[in-house]
Amino acid sequence: MLEFQDDARLILGVDMGATHVAVALTNLRGRILAWNEKMHPVRSDPEGTRELIEQLCEACLAEVPGAARALQGIGVAVPAPVDHMDPMQLSPIVLPAWGGHSGLESLETRFRVPVYVENDANLGAMAEGWWGAGRGLEDFTYIKLATGIGAGLMVGGEISRGVSSAAGEIGHVSIDPNGEPCLCGNRGCLVTFVGGEALVRRAQAGLADAPDSLLARGEVTPGTIEQAALAGDRLAVSVVREAAHHLGVAIAGLLNLLNPGAVILGGSLVRLGNDLLRPLRATVVQRTLVSSVAASEIRISELGPRGTSLGAATMVLAEALRHTSSSDGTR
Ligand SMILES: [Zn+2]
Repeated sequence: MLEFQDDARLILGVDMGATHVAVALTNLRGRILAWNEKMHPVRSDPEGTRELIEQLCEACLAEVPGAARALQGIGVAVPAPVDHMDPMQLSPIVLPAWGGHSGLESLETRFRVPVYVENDANLGAMAEGWWGAGRGLEDFTYIKLATGIGAGLMVGGEISRGVSSAAGEIGHVSIDPNGEPCLCGNRGCLVTFVGGEALVRRAQAGLADAPDSLLARGEVTPGTIEQAALAGDRLAVSVVREAAHHLGVAIAGLLNLLNPGAVILGGSLVRLGNDLLRPLRATVVQRTLVSSVAASEIRISELGPRGTSLGAATMVLAEALRHTSSSDGTR
């Protein structure tokens, strides 16, 4: 029997969000040994983002003696579809300032290890499948709630990417044909109801009628909405309920289409737990064929805000194992 020496090789997992960068240094068992995160206007500043990623990677390596020598590779999660045939390309629709290219090859030059890039929701699904709420499931869907909304579709134990690697773009499923215009050109996409900016807009609009709300005390962000809802703030709770309802409409469609073993939610709002799940499940029950069973399998991520960078590191591990198994014929 072969067994891992958990710390023999180490991996950097990068979570490049729309407004932040986070980097985890993990061992081969998915344990996070170092962690660094910083807010950054990723969408508008490609050059600064690449520099920040390098800095945070260096900072993680500096925290663990011998880490640079043990580095196996770097995985990067990006908030856009990633073409599997050309992973350094970036969707010009989601991240126009990046000019269609991530430029993350620079990490390969600097750290002298292979760099892999993948869509963030796909990596969230991978992390849940290996280490989290999807363990033991061959078929499940992970939905990441953030500035954008994406889904990672695990089908038969593999990520299902579709013919041009754009599967899982659930944020751009239109749930109201007469709704607000979306950056993709459609109207009423799920992201225009549940995306980070939509939540903030909805909360700000509600402040006129709720001047006593906790949200009136400072900048409104998805994080402060989550915090205020946890404290029972009426405006925040109503924003969350509305978002849960819209999310439920999209998830009901997903359940009818894919019949996954579970739907796992990660990202913004998930610290609310049952306060998010209860109204969401109620909508799903009204709208799916085998409603109550399907609704009960909607769960919250077990990995929390570090799930995406953990997934990015897991991708490197999966690649290494794939190469090992193809070179010596074992698996
Ligand atoms: Zn859209």
